[in-house]
Amino acid sequence: MRRTTFLALHLACGAVATAAAGNVRAEQQVRVDGAGLTHVCGEHPQVTVQAMTRADAEAACDGASRSLRFLARAGIDGPASMTIEVVPELPGELASRAVGCFVRETKRILLLSFSAFQAGGGWFRMPPSRDLYRAAASHEMAHAVVACHSESRRLAIAAHEYVAYVVFFATMDAPLRAALLLKFPGAGFKSAGQISDINHIVDPNQFGVDSWRHYLRTSDREVWLRKVIAGEVVPEVSEDPGASSR
Ligand SMILES: [Zn+2]
Repeated sequence: MRRTTFLALHLACGAVATAAAGNVRAEQQVRVDGAGLTHVCGEHPQVTVQAMTRADAEAACDGASRSLRFLARAGIDGPASMTIEVVPELPGELASRAVGCFVRETKRILLLSFSAFQAGGGWFRMPPSRDLYRAAASHEMAHAVVACHSESRRLAIAAHEYVAYVVFFATMDAPLRAALLLKFPGAGFKSAGQISDINHIVDPNQFGVDSWRHYLRTSDREVWLRKVIAGEVVPEVSEDPGASSR
């Protein structure tokens, strides 16, 4: 255990994920305190979830684990530790506009409770199912992983979102993915140049679908994702010559 702690302190992104891989715990650990349940995710004990209900915590864990597993297969390690806070409402401007967020400063994921998610009426033109809720957790966990690889510089929002939406679609159950994509006809981004912050701002859902379809057409997907995270695909704002005029 001491060795794990040492690695976590000195190697940031990958160390604990690797160490934990051979130590999968069959049982999830739950502690009850004033803030509700603190739930240690079974497959990825570096992820803890604070939630008022066990069902919400399990959905968040499942989504986070799917995300970590997918990205690990692409050679992209997750953070040494991560907390997901399941909340009745997101703070500030995000309230009623998003289902979750990753807060870089505090390295925490905020995710709506399932009941609040349901009350929102739906997402991606789909009813607010448990499967869709879990996919929201996958999306936010992907943001946390990308942030862990881009801490020292500012990666364009579009690059962050591209990866988070690829993970969102790749890790959701196939029937949900098929039903969702039917609601968004189209061929996806034609070129990497369309992976832009402006396209994300105009319509985040369409951006997500277009990202997924673009990703499916890339030839070496794992290398491609690593390039996006390395900032080699979407120009950083400071390097974009047109940025100041928009
Ligand atoms: Zn996002």
